[in-house]
Amino acid sequence: MLLLGLIINFLVAWGLSMIPHTLGPANTKAVQLSWNDEDGEHRMVYLLRHQWFGIVENQYHQTRRSRSHDRPNQISIWWSWTPLDLFEPNPIEQSQALFNRFQPENPEATVLSRVRYGFPALSLQGRSMIDDSAPQANGTYETQTRGIFFDRIDANNTLGKPEVWPHAQHLWFPYHPIWAGLIINTLFYACISAMVLYLVIRVRNARRMLRGRCPYCAYEMHHDFSLGCPECGWRC
Ligand SMILES: [Zn+2]
Repeated sequence: MLLLGLIINFLVAWGLSMIPHTLGPANTKAVQLSWNDEDGEHRMVYLLRHQWFGIVENQYHQTRRSRSHDRPNQISIWWSWTPLDLFEPNPIEQSQALFNRFQPENPEATVLSRVRYGFPALSLQGRSMIDDSAPQANGTYETQTRGIFFDRIDANNTLGKPEVWPHAQHLWFPYHPIWAGLIINTLFYACISAMVLYLVIRVRNARRMLRGRCPYCAYEMHHDFSLGCPECGWRC
């Protein structure tokens, strides 16, 4: 039952990962972060957060002031349902971790993303990097991912866009776990599966008895349940 819960959790997260491919984000928020690193050097990064039902993408980039601007939140009850966000990452630590992880060649032209998927809790994640300073010879942008798959980004389709597009629109099938969320979702879907299975069995047994058969093995008892079932021993 736990395995089933785990499988359902993955299927739900993968199903959710289809949403950004067809819809714009329900919520987009931009903030500017600055801090002093260990050497006392002043650092600055922009955080852009895109949100869908069951998906949260945090995007980090260093410059592009003009490309990050607030857009009004779309008002939608369904789309603004927020998944259970157990560990909201500290954005400054998260940004440093992403830049350390990918070591981008052109930090100023690079956008790094951490996308988390899952419902009711965020349970799977992927990280991605796009350097869109110049298209490569084959007409795509340089991209790297960890824990998720990326489709080809055709540079012709994205050149000249005045804003940073959500990476989630090009990401598929996250597989890096967020452990707390994974455990919660697995238990959640395991409980639902157990309840459904229990109901199915109860309904099946009741229907067999209505037809005059043994509820456990369907042996024909002609509505006489007083002596129990000679076939499987029920009530004997
Ligand atoms: Zn029986």
